[in-house]
Amino acid sequence: MSRRARQRLAFVRVVLLALVAFCGAPRADAQSQRPSDTPFAWPGGARIAVSLSYDDALPSQLNHALPALDALGLKASFYLTLASETVAKRLPEWRAAARTGHELGNHTVFHPCSRTAGPGRDWVTPPRDLDRTTAAAVRDEIATANAFLHAIDGRTERTFTAPCGDVLAGGEPFLPLVKPMFVAIKVSEGGVTADVLAQDLHAIGSWAPVNADADALIGFVERAAAGSNGRALASIILHGIGGDYLSIPVDAHQRLLRHLAAHPQRYWVATFGDVARWVRRR
Ligand SMILES: [Zn+2]
Repeated sequence: MSRRARQRLAFVRVVLLALVAFCGAPRADAQSQRPSDTPFAWPGGARIAVSLSYDDALPSQLNHALPALDALGLKASFYLTLASETVAKRLPEWRAAARTGHELGNHTVFHPCSRTAGPGRDWVTPPRDLDRTTAAAVRDEIATANAFLHAIDGRTERTFTAPCGDVLAGGEPFLPLVKPMFVAIKVSEGGVTADVLAQDLHAIGSWAPVNADADALIGFVERAAAGSNGRALASIILHGIGGDYLSIPVDAHQRLLRHLAAHPQRYWVATFGDVARWVRRR
């Protein structure tokens, strides 16, 4: 073998070794990041995290949900539609909620939904119809909502729920454009995330009960806790509480909260933002 050929062979060996080292390292990392290998526990060793959230900035949430949560020391996330009447007329109450540890989440400015995405969408007016806009316009609206929320509570980290659970604007998905603005996003399907370490925090499934009684609500969290391996998250999206629309009765809501508060070793009830930050720190 000529000197030149030996040099070339040595060079190829070095390149191959470098490639093996380079390609091998991420695999080892990925394995050590596998959820099953990563120690994880919710605060206080709770079996399951529970995120209660309330969409649309409805009056009944200020009237019934907030006082009930505060009486039991539970924290929740309120996804404000910023063009809603309560934001205009009862802003100090929302500001006080943020000050006492609740989260004000982003639910857009105007609550745009698709008029054709499901039955019963006749209430969607043309200027707020996702079918008639673009993903870029929705991204801009959501960014404006974040600035608005910052003016209310001074915070810079936030979570999001999509109005009506719709994710297309003019046929284009808009969530990929807004993910960088949020630590986590709730989506409308699902309800229990079995392993938060294995789940994209920008696609956390949620259950949105309507007209549910206390047994149904408590049964949901009890089943979720019983099936949890210590890394599960139960996410509930509520609207009206004893009023407004898509509501559940005040009494059912109250009994759910009492059940959660009575079993802190089983349930860690926290804002969605706090849940996401806890998961991300690990
Ligand atoms: Zn909504």
